[in-house]
Amino acid sequence: MVQYELPKLPYKYDDLEPFIDTETMKIHHQKHHQAYVDGLNKSLEDVGSASHPQYISSILSDLKSIPESGRSAINFFGGGFENHRLFWETMTPNGDGTPGGELEDQIDIYFDNFENFKKSFSEKALSIQGSGWCWLVFNSTYHKIEIITTENQTSPWTIQKHPLLGLDVWEHAYYLKYQNKRPDYVEAWWNVVNWDYVGNRFSELAS
Ligand code: MN
Repeated sequence: MVQYELPKLPYKYDDLEPFIDTETMKIHHQKHHQAYVDGLNKSLEDVGSASHPQYISSILSDLKSIPESGRSAINFFGGGFENHRLFWETMTPNGDGTPGGELEDQIDIYFDNFENFKKSFSEKALSIQGSGWCWLVFNSTYHKIEIITTENQTSPWTIQKHPLLGLDVWEHAYYLKYQNKRPDYVEAWWNVVNWDYVGNRFSELAS
């Protein structure tokens, strides 16, 4: 039976200071992400996990394959598990602040330039009412990058979009340090984006 586990962070809890504070990182990873891991394991068990052996991103891409009674829980906990796994990977204490390579070219094509892309992404993140995520995704149908938002823990996989970079705008991601100042959190987060990781993720898809 598939059992998901809390993934290790690729850096220490205090490594993203001063942009993301240590206490927030600890609680976010050890408590919130752990709760999504536990919830996912339980909701898969409830629908008979042996009949759903695919990795969670594949399950999310085809939620109809899950019995209706379990769909909403798997959307929430499975999305929560996978969204956070990617979130940790796409941050780094050694961000150089800008994408390069093919991703940079795509950003220039669809958003004119990187500054304009950042502005569009931030505006979209700030427009989310309540809890959710802002994403840079790859739309494989049209072979292009897009900025989208999802509510709560819904994953881009559920609408057949491949997540490249996601920003968690749940209050639990920033409230301890930034309180109601979501714009300050979004602005700070740009400093820790791991563009090498995001760029490689894009290149693997686009090639
Ligand atoms: Mn979160």
